[in-house]
Amino acid sequence: MATKFVLTLALCRLIVTVGLMSLDPRELIGINDHRFSLDPAQLESASRDFGGQNQAEPLAIFHPTSADDIRGLVQAAYESGHGWAVSARGHGHSINGQAHAKNGVVIEMSGSKQLPRVDESLKYVDVWGGELWIDVLNYTLRYGVAPKSWTDYLYLSVGGTLSNAGISGQAFNHGPQISNVYELDVVTGKGELRTCSEEQDSELFHAVLGGLGQFGIITRARIALESAPQRVRWIRLLYSNFSRFTHDQEYLISLHMLPAAQKFDYVEGFVIVDEGLINNWRSSFFSPSNPVKISSVVGANGGVLYCLEITKNYDQSSAHTIDQEVGELLKELQYIPATEFTTDLPYVNFLNRVHKAEVKLRSKGLWEVPHPWLNLFIPKSRIDEFDKGVFRGILGNKTSGPILIYPMNKNKWDERSSVVTPDEEVFYLVALLRSALDGGEETQTLKYLSDQNRQILRFCDDAGIKIKQYLPHYNTQKQWMDHFGDKWPTIYQRKMEFDPKHILATGQRIFQPNF
Ligand code: FAD
Repeated sequence: MATKFVLTLALCRLIVTVGLMSLDPRELIGINDHRFSLDPAQLESASRDFGGQNQAEPLAIFHPTSADDIRGLVQAAYESGHGWAVSARGHGHSINGQAHAKNGVVIEMSGSKQLPRVDESLKYVDVWGGELWIDVLNYTLRYGVAPKSWTDYLYLSVGGTLSNAGISGQAFNHGPQISNVYELDVVTGKGELRTCSEEQDSELFHAVLGGLGQFGIITRARIALESAPQRVRWIRLLYSNFSRFTHDQEYLISLHMLPAAQKFDYVEGFVIVDEGLINNWRSSFFSPSNPVKISSVVGANGGVLYCLEITKNYDQSSAHTIDQEVGELLKELQYIPATEFTTDLPYVNFLNRVHKAEVKLRSKGLWEVPHPWLNLFIPKSRIDEFDKGVFRGILGNKTSGPILIYPMNKNKWDERSSVVTPDEEVFYLVALLRSALDGGEETQTLKYLSDQNRQILRFCDDAGIKIKQYLPHYNTQKQWMDHFGDKWPTIYQRKMEFDPKHILATGQRIFQPNF
């Protein structure tokens, strides 16, 4: 370990000596440290992300074999006279270059650097920060347990989602993923490897959760587990009336305090505008054999439909009561009669549902296209205006991808984390998950969709709708200060304490490098 560290230091000193901008990659290869790579293909890959909208090439890629390797690299960057940027890259599924490290080092976190370990009590699992959630799921299922809170898509790293929040239809009940972590190992921007939790080093713990990679690199996370259900009853219901739709969503999330049998396990929804179902890569659910033709239920509502998506988990032992439990819950809802679509599948297939769509899109060359996504948290009190202004206004009749909408309970979010949410007890996620295509219609181009995103943000601003961006992207510190609002002084203090030279996650563009 000591030798490796010396090599790291040697490499780092070399970088500083030759000067970052005039670095000759052959000098680095001369170091012959297998953890660094200057392979052009790897550099190119780390300079891109899922968003596909901007590129920034790092100087080198670092493949750590342990948390201590990461500590050594960051410590060297911190202690050198000049320093350089260091960004952890989980799975590179950011939209706006958040994991880039221009003229710095990208740490390729993905893959197991230590085996996951389920605790004997089956209450939690310890995983490497670069582990993908799909691997966490497959591993924990061997013990009959699984994490409680998910993202819709599982090929994301633990460190990447915990740096944002990690949300899906379970969040109303269990809170976001960041509310389901007991302990972390973190390498701070000073190159210290620290263990933190609610009880120990709690300021660092809360800083890192939802911290956009600003305060430390998560090398291990201890994640809460529950008994894994075997099957899922998955239901979709259509609405043409937005108020009824949101009323029902809000009603369902208000049941979070009730026993499991009396509430759904997952509450989401999406908006169907125009061609929405065809262009909605998450809608394979509506098979041609469905008895209801979607077009026949589109009302006079500007062609907009809303689909409530809910699930109920169960085991073979409770299979005899599932119909009744679901029936009781559905009775209370006001969807369009006869627009109930139901399927039943193994739990793992439900959680991994988006991967199926990914495989399809990849086969058509439609996965690796630019993704000008916009994710917003919207206060409940203004969601009607947003519907009128955006879903039935700005979007016209083209969406270029799925539009998710679902509410969450703020009391399931820990105010001490670094994430910011609207100032109301219930707020919605609206996720415009669009794919840009060149050479097709003008409304599908990157420019058109990016302009439309700006128009949506302007609309909220003009109407005084106090949204917060989720997976936020801003270019100036002033914008970041507005984003964090009352939390800005805390964020600033945390940065000064944990990463005073602004080495970490410079791709977020919150703090200018200070070295
Ligand atoms: P990266 O893009 O690699 O990194 C993101 C940021 O986190 C960077 O700033 C990086 O430096 C930092 N970071 C990465 N690893 C670490 C670490 N170990 N320690 C500290 N900082 C780190 N999000 C949801 O909440 N819910 C969803 O349902 C959801 N679905 C998605 C579906 C798709 C198809 C895609 C592309 C994204 C989705 N996201 C969703 C967004 C996703 O959670 C974020 O983009 C997340 O950051 C991606 O994880 P990643 O591992 O690819 O992170």
